[in-house]
Amino acid sequence: MTAIDLRSDTVTKPSSGMRRAMAEAEVGDDVLDGDPTTRRLEARVAELLGMEDALFFPSGTQANQTGVALLTAALVGGALRPTSPHVPCASAVAAENTHNAAGGKVMGVDVMAGIVVAAGAAGLPLHLDGARLWNAAAALAVPISRLVAGAATVMVSFSKGLGCPVGSCLGLRAAERPRAWEIRKRLGGGMRQSGILAAAALWALDHNLTRLGEDHDKARRLADLLSDCPAVRPSVPETNIVMVDLLRERDTASAVVPKLAA
Ligand SMILES: *Cc1c(COP(=O)(O)O)cnc(C)c1O
Repeated sequence: MTAIDLRSDTVTKPSSGMRRAMAEAEVGDDVLDGDPTTRRLEARVAELLGMEDALFFPSGTQANQTGVALLTAALVGGALRPTSPHVPCASAVAAENTHNAAGGKVMGVDVMAGIVVAAGAAGLPLHLDGARLWNAAAALAVPISRLVAGAATVMVSFSKGLGCPVGSCLGLRAAERPRAWEIRKRLGGGMRQSGILAAAALWALDHNLTRLGEDHDKARRLADLLSDCPAVRPSVPETNIVMVDLLRERDTASAVVPKLAA
């Protein structure tokens, strides 16, 4: 029997088709004067998100940091509110869809719209951590752009369920691209022949995006199978994450791992 590593959607390895696309990618120097494949990926993602522009990053963490840095800068003008040492001062609102720690939970279109309204009423811009936004859109059967409406910046990952080795994009307004580019550079995220990585992401958008529902079906089937095992108590997955409740004292990792293996 072959063991399948189910610890995370990050342990996937590039398929042969993806590796071929990477090997054949047209490249340039993206830090100097541009990489054509990276630019194609950025345009494709901006279109998918329904946003003006997107910038390619080596990691989601760096894209999140850049998004938050952009919004905080935008807020300086709004910092005219009287500040008080007794009141914490919010500078931006961040939301995550799907929610990783909550077990891949999906935030629906209405909930997102409510957050957009609340953030707008407070004068705060919204950053969306959409590392698994593809999964949310697949689970809800809505276009990804519907889950983005109203966000100032949006991070999406290629290295999670889409199966790429590296990469995220930050969706943003076109006017913010130069500033985001500068922040990315300062964070050490400038990449040169990044088209090799962007080609993997484009390949994943062409071949893997429509297959996320298969992952969700398999996650549900795994949870179903595990639910026959009283010591494990799996969550009911909404997307591609199955959580196992280990809160009971006797359910130490060393006790549960052999049960899961069985
Ligand atoms: C993985 C992840 C990140 C960070 O992405 P990296 O590419 O690992 O830096 C951010 N947010 C969520 C929800 C994630 O799952």
